[in-house]
Amino acid sequence: MTIELKKLTKRFGSLTAVEAIDLDVGDGEVLCLLGPSGCGKTTTLRMVAGLEYASEGDVFLQGKRVNDLAPRDRNVAMSFQFYALYPSLSVAENLAFPLHGEGLSKSEINARVQRISDTLQLGGILNRTPGQLAEGEKQRVAVGRSIIRDPNCFLFDEPLSRLDVQLREEMRGEIKEVLQDLSKPTVIVTHDQLEALTMADRIAVMRDGRIEQVDTPHNVFQRPSNLFVAGFIGTPQMNLIPATFTALHGDDTAEFAVEGGQTLTVVVDPAIKTLAPGAKVTLGIRPRNLEISTEPVADGLSTRIDIVEPMGAETLAHMNDGHHDLRLVTDWRVPLTEGEQAHTRFPPGTTHIFTEDEQVLRTP
Ligand code: ATP
Repeated sequence: MTIELKKLTKRFGSLTAVEAIDLDVGDGEVLCLLGPSGCGKTTTLRMVAGLEYASEGDVFLQGKRVNDLAPRDRNVAMSFQFYALYPSLSVAENLAFPLHGEGLSKSEINARVQRISDTLQLGGILNRTPGQLAEGEKQRVAVGRSIIRDPNCFLFDEPLSRLDVQLREEMRGEIKEVLQDLSKPTVIVTHDQLEALTMADRIAVMRDGRIEQVDTPHNVFQRPSNLFVAGFIGTPQMNLIPATFTALHGDDTAEFAVEGGQTLTVVVDPAIKTLAPGAKVTLGIRPRNLEISTEPVADGLSTRIDIVEPMGAETLAHMNDGHHDLRLVTDWRVPLTEGEQAHTRFPPGTTHIFTEDEQVLRTP
C-alpha cells in the first residue's frame, strides 16, 4: 500500500493553500508533514482523506486514483488528538466503537479488539473504564481506537498536541513502534520538530503550501537543502550570518567578509569552487558546532557575551559580533561571563553556505 500525491494543489479563492505537491509514502513508512502554522499541512492531509477536494493534481492510494471517491470509500483513518474516550464504556468497548456500523460479526469484532490489545499491551485493562486508567494507558487506548478499523493508511493531525510534556515524550516512541508494526503508510501532521524528528522515517518540511525538503530526520537536520529548512529545524536555531565570499585558498578554504567588518576563513564544502568572489552568501553554523577559542583566530569571529543561560549539562550563550547575534551551546564547565569578550571558532566542515537564491551550496 502506498500514498502518492502528484502535483496536488488546493486553492481557497485567491489563496493557494497547497501548491503542486509531489509526495509518496511507502508501506510501513511514517512521514511527518512539518511546518509553521498555515503552511498547508492539514489541507494536504484532508485532501488525502477526501475531506477536501483537490483544485488540481491527483491522490493515488495503492496505485488507484481516488480524487473522486468519498471519504468513506477511500478506507483511510484520519484522527485528531488521541484523547477523547467514552468515559462510561470499558476499554474493550471503546476500542470496538469505530467498528460498529461496519457490518462485522461479534466474533470478528472481538478478534480485532484482541489483536489491538495484544499490539498495545492492553490485555490487563480491557474491562476498566477510562476513569480507572493512568494517563499513558488512556493514550494507548486512544491510539488503539484510531487504528482498529484496519484502513489502507493512517492520517494523524497533531496527535500529541493536547498531552503534557512527559506524556508526549513517552508517546512519541511508542507510536513509532506501533505504526511500524502495522506496515501501513502513515502521515502525521505536526508543527513540533521534535515530534517529527523522533517519530518520522521521513519528514516533509513545508512552507507556504510548498514542500521545501523531503528527507530523513538526520538529513533535514545535518544537510538542510535551503535557508528555510536550516533556520526552521534545530533548537536553538542555526546561526545565519550574511557575508560576501572574497577568496579561495586551496580547494576548500574560503575567505568571507562578514557583514560588519570581520574576516572569516573557514574550511567549507568544495562546491565553494563554483562561486565567484564577490558573491553574497549566508553562512550557517549550528550553536553546538560553534566553539570558544582563547584567542582571536582566522576561522572565528570575535564577540561579546550578552547573555548566559545555564541549561543543566550545557550552557547557551547569546553573543554578538557587533552586528549579529550568535548562539553558542557548550559544555556547562566552559566559563562564560556576561559582558566579556569571547572568541568563537568555526570548526572545519561545520559551516553551511547558502547562496543568494537561498539554496545550499554543497557537493551532491
Ligand atoms: P495549522 O498548523 O495552523 O493548522 P496548517 O499548516 O495545517 O496550519 P492549513 O490549515 O492547511 O495550514 O491552512 C493553509 C492555509 O489555507 C491557511 O492560510 C488557512 O487559513 C487556509 N485555509 C484552510 N482551510 C480553509 C478554508 N476552508 N477556507 C479558506 N481558507 C482556508
